[in-house]
Amino acid sequence: MPTTMKAARIHAYGEALRIDEVPVPQPDQGQVQIAIVASGVCHTDIHATSGDMAGRPSLPFVPGHEIVGRVSAVGAGVQQIKEGDVVGVPSLHWACGECDYCQAGWETLCHSQLATGYSVDGGFAQFCVAPADFVTRIPHGVDLYEMAPILCAGVTTCKGLKQTGARKGDWVVISGIGGLGHVAVQYARALGYQVAVVDISDDKLELARRLGAELTVNAQLNDAPSVIQREIGGAHAVLVTAAAKTAFRAGVDMLRRGGVCVLCGLPSGEFPVPILPVVLGGLTVTGSIIGTRVDMDEAIAMAIEAGVKVQIEKQPLENINDIFARLSKGEVLGRVVLEIS
Ligand SMILES: [Zn+2]
Ligand SMILES: [Zn+2]
Repeated sequence: MPTTMKAARIHAYGEALRIDEVPVPQPDQGQVQIAIVASGVCHTDIHATSGDMAGRPSLPFVPGHEIVGRVSAVGAGVQQIKEGDVVGVPSLHWACGECDYCQAGWETLCHSQLATGYSVDGGFAQFCVAPADFVTRIPHGVDLYEMAPILCAGVTTCKGLKQTGARKGDWVVISGIGGLGHVAVQYARALGYQVAVVDISDDKLELARRLGAELTVNAQLNDAPSVIQREIGGAHAVLVTAAAKTAFRAGVDMLRRGGVCVLCGLPSGEFPVPILPVVLGGLTVTGSIIGTRVDMDEAIAMAIEAGVKVQIEKQPLENINDIFARLSKGEVLGRVVLEIS
């Protein structure tokens, strides 16, 4: 068992990550230590490292919240998980279990929650530790690199789609076909929706078409809301996964009357909500953030049953800054997954 490990850490907001040699974290009571195999790179990691979200992490820290690996040690009191088990560590690192939100089944809204790769060191490293109660079991026989992004991109979009309340046969628009969006298209198909997609990259639209989208709109060349209103009479639901702020207002404008726009993307800032269409059209605009442990189990099971397949590109940990640069410019097709071991 090594005593030190490689970890990509942020030392100053907005600056490049540094690959450091740091001590291997040891599991406290109730925690497990995980030898990381695969670690997905999410757009939120860029927000974390640039320090543009609320409650900035204390420096230095290790980003990364789509972690799959093998349990390499267990702390005192851990019974349900043993060494060698294959587990995932999601973004929801820990929640209190006692507040009103936790008790009502909304642990993702817990004010005391800890976030992996944000308030607690995450997955851009060879090892991490996590509370045994909050790691997720990964079923046998799945590709661990393809499974890692389900831990954020998968559960976030699966939960977001459920929050739309859409029914089989309804038109659902997925706005933004990045790491989240291309997974969302597949969950939406699995849930029986008719899927339209909006993006500004023809490559990403083509990927969405291959994954089952019936209508694709390039928002750089067209006024996407007009096309959606004209072609399908407006969407029953829109899931905004885009990292661009303009997509948020456009998402509301794509709805038919009674429609629901669920926001998952996380650019900082604001967008104008038009009062008359929302009131007269009975529209709903709501946010959706990751998912609970129950949502996670469902997202994993559905991914396996329905054949939801993340398009991955494997990269070594050392390339993390280059990956961030490409992700910022929208140049990643699907998801980059760090091949840690
Ligand atoms: Zn994420
Ligand atoms: Zn709580």
